[in-house]
Amino acid sequence: MADPGNRWNWEVKGFEPKKSSQYEDQNRPAPLVRRYSISSSSILPHQQLSKHNLATKLQKLNDKVMLAREDYAALKQEASDLHEYSNAKLDRITRYLGVLADKTRKLDQVALETLARISPLMSEKKRLFNDLLTVKGNVKVFCRTRPLFEDEGPSVAEFPDECTIRINTGAHTLAHPKKDFEFDRVYGPHVGQAELFIDVQPFVQSALDGYNVSVFAYGQTRSGKTYTMEGSSHDRGLYARCFEELFDLSNLDSTSSSQFSFSVTAFELYNEQIRDLLAESGKSSPKVLMGSPGSFVELVPEKVDNPLGFSKVLKAVLLTRGTDVSKLNVSHLIVTIHIHYNNVITGENLHSKLSLVDLARSDGLAVDNNSGEDVTDLLHVMKSLSALGDVLASLTSKKDIALTKIQCLPRSLQTQWVEMLKL
Ligand code: ADP
Repeated sequence: MADPGNRWNWEVKGFEPKKSSQYEDQNRPAPLVRRYSISSSSILPHQQLSKHNLATKLQKLNDKVMLAREDYAALKQEASDLHEYSNAKLDRITRYLGVLADKTRKLDQVALETLARISPLMSEKKRLFNDLLTVKGNVKVFCRTRPLFEDEGPSVAEFPDECTIRINTGAHTLAHPKKDFEFDRVYGPHVGQAELFIDVQPFVQSALDGYNVSVFAYGQTRSGKTYTMEGSSHDRGLYARCFEELFDLSNLDSTSSSQFSFSVTAFELYNEQIRDLLAESGKSSPKVLMGSPGSFVELVPEKVDNPLGFSKVLKAVLLTRGTDVSKLNVSHLIVTIHIHYNNVITGENLHSKLSLVDLARSDGLAVDNNSGEDVTDLLHVMKSLSALGDVLASLTSKKDIALTKIQCLPRSLQTQWVEMLKL
């Protein structure tokens, strides 16, 4: 069907349409033009015509009728040829479309086979990327300082390098030297949300690759935890940036055979009581179980398809949580983005979580004038943060001791930290 140059030839041999030159050769006008017409002026009144004239006229009319008949026969033949020709061409095109469909099927097959072959390599790449991130330990600690308020006096912090914060503990004497604290990264007060996010981004990638990741904001009251997580209207915090990044990366990674989907759960932990902040959302979707069998919480998930959907859910969560600062300071907020990945070719079905946690204040009982109720709240916060400390210590030392330790803790604390830190 295709010519030697492998290009499709549309001509159908033996069915070439007639060209006008064919008619010129025969010294006749083209058949599509009516060559003779019988006008009313050519028929004269009876009395003016002699018998001879009448016979001549009749002869001429007969000739014209004959020629018209010939034209009609020629046109009919041409119409029939064209019909046959177009049928043949249609048949050829249909066969060509069949060839194309066959080629497309074969290409699809090759694409599927290639995808199946590179799939283990992709998984390996994800695993190596995660190993690279965690090679120096599963836990990274970043230290962020915020700009000083007017009433806070001169800064006591210096930033000798990007991993050290130097604190001036008093008069800089031999007895009171400045103290250096090292972290995986230190951010001075000038560092904005976007710059901070650059260092969080690889963990978001790891979460999308199928690993559980938790980000905690830990610090004293007014140190900037909520600002870091929520941000402000003109400078979004980690909640929004993490979801946007997940969304963008998932769009890059999605193919016709593999897809990501996201849902969000959110709960508050206050005095060891778990409060599902999306319970009121009225969704009838099955609840998500977070925790180990025998010790789990059931949470209402909210499906989110895009960053706008996420910010709506987050707004609802924060609204339900309320604005009572005294209570916000002594409760933890845990927002979890559940990432579902499905690949119909490899049958891969992954579920990972990115938990974003705005912890309760870490300044515990160091605050004066606490009422009895406040003290209970603070004790719960301290117990809870100490449980978190145990889990983190276990992860950094890569030992399992913390697991046994935390099993003695109240159910809600086990559930919360173990689940998030994937023990
Ligand atoms: P926390 O949640 O730790 O109690 P907040 O996040 O509420 O503290 O921060 C206390 C105040 O400091 C807020 O007014 C917040 O806007 C401001 N703030 C915190 N961090 C920054 C920052 N990096 N840049 C500018 N303002 C900040």
